[in-house]
Amino acid sequence: MYRDNHTCQYCRGKSKDSILNVHHIRSRQSHGDRPGNLVTLCETCHTKLHKESLENYFHPKDKGFKDESQFTILRWFIYNGIKEKYPDVNLTFGYITKNTRIKNNLPKSHAVDARCISGNPLAKPPVNTLYIKQVRKNNRQLHKFNPSKGGIRKANKAPYLVKGFRLFDKVLYNNRKCFIFGRRKSGYFDLRLLDGTKIHASASHKRLDLIESATSMLKEVS
Ligand SMILES: [Zn+2]
Repeated sequence: MYRDNHTCQYCRGKSKDSILNVHHIRSRQSHGDRPGNLVTLCETCHTKLHKESLENYFHPKDKGFKDESQFTILRWFIYNGIKEKYPDVNLTFGYITKNTRIKNNLPKSHAVDARCISGNPLAKPPVNTLYIKQVRKNNRQLHKFNPSKGGIRKANKAPYLVKGFRLFDKVLYNNRKCFIFGRRKSGYFDLRLLDGTKIHASASHKRLDLIESATSMLKEVS
């Protein structure tokens, strides 16, 4: 019901019936209670569906769940790719993760979600969390200029290197590992952790040691 936004997936609320049922798309005996076999229906539609044997004409998956069409393709591509290497890979769902988190009275964070997904929600620190953030590097030819449209390379970009540093370089500042999130030509940089936590808004480049050159996948262990 949570996944379906507490809305009948047949009439989408048009019946005004506020009583909701969970309907088995295919028989419970053969296909069970897994989320993919369940759909939220209002009682009016649920009764009608069974009475008029409309089951065969109702394929909620064909109608598509909200925001799912694009993602479904990608999900199966990733899933099948991983399954080739690791046969015991499993799929889970966001609302199950949320349910596990609430049931175990855990705070909301990416690290907690990862623990809930892994099936070990109560794993106790010390547990290292690897945080990976993808960033745009804006270095594709497309972003630089577009000759077919008579484009001219934009000159308003900061130079690639400022005092030897690039945007998203991983650096050591005051014994803390952090990333360059913004640079000024003067050599004073905006330093942050991957979750956006500010380390220093205007740190001198002279106090930075390069740990790792910028890539499009930033990694941070905490
Ligand atoms: Zn309905």
